[in-house]
Amino acid sequence: MNWHLLQLSEIEQLLNSSPKGLDSITASELLLGNGKNQIADQKKKTPFQMFLHQFTDFMILVLIAAAIISGIIGDLVDTIIILAIIMINAVVGFIQEYRAEKAMEALKKIAANTARVLRDGKTIDIDASDLVPGDVVVLEAGNIIPADIRFLEAHKIKVDESTLTGESHNTEKTAEILPEGKYGLGDRTNIGFKGTNITNGRALAYVVATGMNTELGHIAKMIQQEETATPLQKRLIAFGKRLSIVILLICTVIFVIGWLRGGAILEMLLTSISLAVAAIPEALPALVTIALAVGAKRLVKNKALIRKLPAVETLGSVTYICTDKTGTLTLNKMTVQETYEIPITNADFDFFKENSLLNAMALNNDIKIAKDKKWLGDSTELALVKYAFDKNIKKNTLEKILPRVAELPFDSSRKCMTTLHQTEKGILVITKGAVDELFDKLDKKQKALIPEIERKVNEISEKGFRVLGYAIKLLPLLPEKLNTQDIETSLTLIGFAGMIDPPREEAKQAVAECKQAGIVPVMITGDHQLTAKAIAKQLGIITSDEDLVLSGSELSALTQTQFEVIVEKIRVYARVNPEQKLKIIKALQDKNQFVAMTGDGVNDAPALKNADIGIAMGINGTEVSKEAAHMILLDDNFATIVKAIRHGRRIFDNILKFIKYTMTSNSGEIWAIFLAPFLGLPIPLLAIHILWINLVTDGLPGLALVSEASETNSMNRPPRNPKENIFSGGMAIHILWVGFLMGAVTLGMQAWAMQNNNHWQTMAFTVLCLSQMGHVMAIRSERESVFKIGFLSNKPLLGAILLTFGLQMMIVYTPFFNKTFRTQPLTLNELLITFAVSSIIFCAVEIEKWFKRKWK
Ligand code: ATP
Repeated sequence: MNWHLLQLSEIEQLLNSSPKGLDSITASELLLGNGKNQIADQKKKTPFQMFLHQFTDFMILVLIAAAIISGIIGDLVDTIIILAIIMINAVVGFIQEYRAEKAMEALKKIAANTARVLRDGKTIDIDASDLVPGDVVVLEAGNIIPADIRFLEAHKIKVDESTLTGESHNTEKTAEILPEGKYGLGDRTNIGFKGTNITNGRALAYVVATGMNTELGHIAKMIQQEETATPLQKRLIAFGKRLSIVILLICTVIFVIGWLRGGAILEMLLTSISLAVAAIPEALPALVTIALAVGAKRLVKNKALIRKLPAVETLGSVTYICTDKTGTLTLNKMTVQETYEIPITNADFDFFKENSLLNAMALNNDIKIAKDKKWLGDSTELALVKYAFDKNIKKNTLEKILPRVAELPFDSSRKCMTTLHQTEKGILVITKGAVDELFDKLDKKQKALIPEIERKVNEISEKGFRVLGYAIKLLPLLPEKLNTQDIETSLTLIGFAGMIDPPREEAKQAVAECKQAGIVPVMITGDHQLTAKAIAKQLGIITSDEDLVLSGSELSALTQTQFEVIVEKIRVYARVNPEQKLKIIKALQDKNQFVAMTGDGVNDAPALKNADIGIAMGINGTEVSKEAAHMILLDDNFATIVKAIRHGRRIFDNILKFIKYTMTSNSGEIWAIFLAPFLGLPIPLLAIHILWINLVTDGLPGLALVSEASETNSMNRPPRNPKENIFSGGMAIHILWVGFLMGAVTLGMQAWAMQNNNHWQTMAFTVLCLSQMGHVMAIRSERESVFKIGFLSNKPLLGAILLTFGLQMMIVYTPFFNKTFRTQPLTLNELLITFAVSSIIFCAVEIEKWFKRKWK
């Protein structure tokens, strides 16, 4: 439909709507007919497909084939058992994947965009996916356009359509109808497209197409980003491939030796295949996703919403947190503490002379008074308007006498804003902004006063106050074109106000915690250098003369190379523009730092994308910034970043423990089966035993490790180098030696039991299974003894161990399973000996940790 060529009245008729919007009943009917306003996710698997997917793994297919062949030639019971084990494994795999998927979906739902619409004559916020054609949406700078729209009213609207057209400049939009002709997407100036960003102005618009009917829907593939693997997953996949070859070689050797020693060829084949299936860690990358998704779910409870899963993993590597000041480090609750008036000498302003500063405070702002009498708007402006109000200068009354006729809105690069008011003498221009930014805009006569004013401003700023100045001038007529250079010049400064924004108490502690953890907190602010420095001192960000403060203008004077010499010393960047954040990120990254960066505005988006972890603000952030971020702070609080890092470190530690546990178990089995022939022993385990241990009893305790609490030193050690090999730092050695010990203990048990006419196979099988329970208990902490952290402190793990133990006892003591698993009930004596021998692994790992505590 050529919506851009239609009159608004025609559109209203077609959509059955009006500038007042739809009523909610019509809207819900339309929603039923049109479907949700979202881009269909083609890749989504149904639960059944997810279940089937569990069987597509190559190794499992090999196992199924082997089981069937063995069934045809030999033992049908074996076949059934193996198939049952594979089935249980598939069910467990399915449940895990399904839960991870649900956790991710829940996260996506919280992250979903909202849209502001007119419904039943009221302005309300709804889930953007509930929009229907005919809805009237209210839009402003920072919004992502939620559907395809036709503008009905547009005030200085500019839209960044690069996501759609690839062109990065902003397109101006109007509500005007276009003359007949052919127009490309980028030329339809009265249409806004779903997924593009409003960078300036405000507007009302009709929704004309939703969901898959939008232009974005037509090219849906563009946004269907591949879910990429996390850095750890990539490494695990590469490592898994190499390891698989080694394991396959070992299994071939075991097969050949077994066969040469006269073992039944089929049995040896099945044992080797089972060992290969069990020992190749092909499920590890998927399990990492589960651990990360579960971790992300927990982070939401702590007010950190993860938008990109790899962020959970990389949080622990952050070395620099570059954070905004206002609202994140401070409370964003401003109050005016002092004012300073400069007498007006120019007779032209006689009508404005009395209470000029207070009048300017009441007039120059965008504060709105809601129906419930609540004042809405930016906290800086709220403070100023309230100050004037308390002194009996009321915004509403004054605006009736001096109505606002135009404005130049605030932007953080100019650091000021201007309102224009109709008076009898002409147009009164009031500019409010950072005083140092106003200096250049003053008329010649006042420039002589600057040094004195500057002294006064510095004095107030040093207390950590934000200082805002007011300047005015008169124009004979309202200019046709409003541009800042012409209007914000030759102004007369009439005074300024100093306001306090107290630092957040919890931010102080969080800064201290960061420093303990080897993370450098850096403040980036649009505020004055002295204000920023004072707050940074109060928070502990600056503690010595070596901690530097750099201003935006100093930063732009430096070349990238010069900047990189000092970048690691800078703790505060003041009066910077959002665009300069990119330069800071690049310099730190060039120095091999891992940077987390916060941002809330539209122009913070590039920095958020380029930071290693981009963090947007949930309350005060624009949608564009949220879309670009890896993580969203639901409470806009700096302390939450530090909390998220603490959790990130814990999650990563636990993933490492999980890898350590699984790989050591595999190593134990390989050692036992590989060494047996060399010691003249029969292979201790049957194929079904190997599969049982790996695919059933191993999984539960391993997964429960994800719930382990933080290591006591998790925030007292430096950040993890993201490039570091996970198997360094002793993990590989642990896997080899503890695995070897497990194998040795199993074979020792076997040899002893064979000599003493005991049930050697059941004993060896049970020892191997229980040794792993001991191992998982001992590796719960990297350094601390389990006796210190408490045996009962990880309840899910305790439950998993008890369950596994119960299952093993079921196999040993019930006649049905005795038959199928070829086990025999152990005597009490045998059982106790098995327990004692299994505890060797637990004790050995505890001793390993004791050495670690002693020597490291
Ligand atoms: P931070 O970057 O620490 O979060 P901020 O977001 O408040 O601080 P900006 O909004 O970029 O920083 O503001 C920069 C400067 O612009 C402020 O120091 C102040 O001097 C000025 N300023 C802020 N708000 C307004 C406003 N509403 N009108 C005029 N000037 C303002």
